[in-house]
Amino acid sequence: MSSRILIVEDNPLNMKLMAMTLVSKGYNLLKATDGEEALALAEKERPDLIVMDMQLPKLNGFETTKKLRLMPAFSKTPIIGITAYAMNGDRERVLEAGCDIYLSKPIDTRALPEIIDRMIAEKQAGNPGRNGD
Ligand code: MN
Repeated sequence: MSSRILIVEDNPLNMKLMAMTLVSKGYNLLKATDGEEALALAEKERPDLIVMDMQLPKLNGFETTKKLRLMPAFSKTPIIGITAYAMNGDRERVLEAGCDIYLSKPIDTRALPEIIDRMIAEKQAGNPGRNGD
């Protein structure tokens, strides 16, 4: 069964770009355009990995990720944090919110599927989560 990826992104062009990239690699996609929708969809569908834009309406990616990490079902789900602004401290903030890794826009669509494949493989191999817990 192919893995299911939840993409959380409010920018339609970025959503389209990532969706095209991942569908072409055979992933099943779930899509949310704000943090509240992401939480509801994640609880209902239990995706294998989440790609989270950090700048989102309603509930931003930082708050959404923190809420997900408090739920046992998502304590170890791989989460990729995406941010548009390569600002000092961003990386730390993204990881502190609970994302496993951090990528900045524009997204490297050639690298993204490889990163996702590796993270899902590591999760399935039962590797310890981030922080070694
Ligand atoms: Mn955004």
